Amino acid sequence: MAACNAHYYATRDPLGANGDFTTAPEIHQMFGEMVGACLADCWHRAGAPEEVAYVELGPGRGTLAVDALRVMTSAGLRPEIHLVETSPALRDAQGEHFSEVDWHESLLTIPQDVPLLLVANEFLDALPIRQWIGDEERRVTLDGEQLAFLSNGLIREDSPARNAYAWEIAAQIDVRGGVALIIDYGHDRSALGDTLQAVKGHTFADVLSNAGDQDLTSHVDFEAIGRAASGIDIRFAGPATQGDWLRRIGIIQRAEILTRQNPDRAKDIGSALARLTAADQMGELFKVFAIHHPDWPTPAGFECPPREDK
Ligand code: SAH
Repeated sequence: MAACNAHYYATRDPLGANGDFTTAPEIHQMFGEMVGACLADCWHRAGAPEEVAYVELGPGRGTLAVDALRVMTSAGLRPEIHLVETSPALRDAQGEHFSEVDWHESLLTIPQDVPLLLVANEFLDALPIRQWIGDEERRVTLDGEQLAFLSNGLIREDSPARNAYAWEIAAQIDVRGGVALIIDYGHDRSALGDTLQAVKGHTFADVLSNAGDQDLTSHVDFEAIGRAASGIDIRFAGPATQGDWLRRIGIIQRAEILTRQNPDRAKDIGSALARLTAADQMGELFKVFAIHHPDWPTPAGFECPPREDK
């Protein structure tokens, strides 16, 4: 999975109508704006430290960063920009947007002395997983010219690569301060099941076909992410569903303002809002999880929803 995805991302821009899949920031600017507003609010409540770094893991085309940084700038926040990206093709796309930016292979090379405002949207899902059947790791073999699974059965998944990233994010926040927003599709609680999937041309494909030529992902186990980072003196918030989180921090109000300013785009704005927040679209499956330093505030949007009076 690691080798396939490394080839896949290094050799193309997979996003958008002409690619294989579309992510939330590519659906509409409102998504990145909400992320930027949330980070700017945290920074403000943390006392507006002069030096701070915006760090994004796997920034794709850089769209989320552009939208988030526009909002941050309007709030008086001008962070250094550090992008963790391994794909040369996507680094080129990201470079189009920013005059001053540093790229990294991992979090370790980001200057040590500044607090982080970190974002990872649909990043962890692309990191490799393992599958287990009982105590045996499920392996892949060659059947003639075809890849094939060696065994089938009730599957449990884990991901040392994701755990390592979760630990590293938490460790960096512990040392430098700041906050991280991790957004991805997945589940709150660890559970059995096969969630490995391949997507090509906006449709699901066989996971063992087209090696390195289709997007391979699996659902993120947010309980495992929290577990991997436990033992470090940081705080967690969430996961909240993407729909709840976006509504709590004001996406409906933002959509109303944009609609008033651009009445001719009312229909597009309405359908983007629904795609991002509706329970049967991205609203429920996608989750937002935050890690923050104990001296930094809990990001907005993770409050318990108001109790409904019956
Ligand atoms: N966050 C973007 C793109 C998601 S696609 C968006 O929401 O649109 C996954 C991104 O992670 C791509 O930019 C890909 O090149 C990057 N990526 C995948 N594996 C990576 C790795 N091991 N290290 C760094 N970046 C990686």
